[in-house]
Amino acid sequence: MKIDRKNIRIVLVETTHAGNIGAAARAMKTMGLSDLALVSPCAYKTYECYARASGAGEIIDAVTSHATLQDAVGDVGLVIGTSARLRSLAWPQLPTVEAAQKIAAASLLGKVAIVFGRERSGLTNDELALCSSLLIIPSNEQFSSLNLAAAVQIVSYELMRAELPDSPLAVAAESPAEQAELERFYEHLAVVMEEIGYYDPANPRLLMTRMRRLFNRAEPSVSELQVLRGVLAQMQKGRRVD
Ligand code: SAH
Repeated sequence: MKIDRKNIRIVLVETTHAGNIGAAARAMKTMGLSDLALVSPCAYKTYECYARASGAGEIIDAVTSHATLQDAVGDVGLVIGTSARLRSLAWPQLPTVEAAQKIAAASLLGKVAIVFGRERSGLTNDELALCSSLLIIPSNEQFSSLNLAAAVQIVSYELMRAELPDSPLAVAAESPAEQAELERFYEHLAVVMEEIGYYDPANPRLLMTRMRRLFNRAEPSVSELQVLRGVLAQMQKGRRVD
């Protein structure tokens, strides 16, 4: 799934620790995001902020600062809130992966904001009312509140993941071996296991079924199966030399 990162804005509401703002900027940059908006922040252009931003100082330099959340999301289509807990006011909730997919899709059409709350108290109900839904990162029920920058990191990473192909294996895949070839391998395997006294066709139990389950699960490619066949042939050869 594609993402238009320049359309994704991270909004931090009334952050009180400048270090968290720096760490959030770093988290964003590692995942290719750069639009950071602050609502009524503390004095943030501090040594600690830039130190925690590490190489992401340019995001701090380009921050936009706003008096209210409404101002920070004025030009935004989709606004997603984040929270450590279920709120007293029930609000539509999106599982993290679905939220990332929704954000990615919306970013192709216009601006999207992901809103993070205060370190101590999160978002107010009025701020929540500006959000179409709420993203809650699954966490320990007894200790569900992540550090603000850690929450920014996880959400940004989920956006990165939404963009990856479904299965990274698919990229490196070689052509899978054909079933007939796989059958020849199983026959060969049975013969060799019998030769070395590991397999008794008169008392087969579940050995071949288990072997089939193991190798079928691996979905061997043509070249991998050639290697396996080569190993079996070499074992037979070795035994004959004996
Ligand atoms: N005591 C506050 C916690 C604030 S933590 C509360 O109960 O809301 C600061 C911010 O980090 C939160 O407002 C939210 O934006 C984000 N955050 C922390 N833990 C999170 C989680 N498990 N899921 C989603 N966002 C989280």
